[in-house]
Amino acid sequence: MNNIHKAILAIIALAVSTVALVAKPIPGPKGGRILTTDAPHAEFFVENDRSVVVSLYDKDMKPLPVSGQVVFATAEAKTGKVKLDFIEKNGALVSTVPLPEGDDYNVVVQIRDNVTARPKNYRVLFHDEVCDECKRAEYACICDDAGKEHAHDKK
Ligand SMILES: [Zn+2]
Repeated sequence: MNNIHKAILAIIALAVSTVALVAKPIPGPKGGRILTTDAPHAEFFVENDRSVVVSLYDKDMKPLPVSGQVVFATAEAKTGKVKLDFIEKNGALVSTVPLPEGDDYNVVVQIRDNVTARPKNYRVLFHDEVCDECKRAEYACICDDAGKEHAHDKK
């Protein structure tokens, strides 16, 4: 019994440390949320008019031009799902329609490296408000949920 308990504790400790490694968010240069964990990175950013901008970056977070990537998004709003198409504009991919009314809903962003590539799906919980702690849009908040270190402490 004792050994089983030790084993369970070890598994929990391992799981916790794995989460801590993965959970460190990268702040999006435009103030948006970085969807990716590996380069090329994609940033999800919502403009004032609620259109969605997806920008691409290399591993050093230098902007990358759009090079055939195909982006779609589905906003799972409470009023119904809305599909967003994206077109290239000013070196990024911009949705042709704005996000639907309201907030606190998921937006599923589908990115393909090119027309024939397998799609990769990223889920963003869209919140309209600004985070009190990091002053970023809530959907792009980089505050550590564990409360270890906040962005505003670094200023
Ligand atoms: Zn925050």
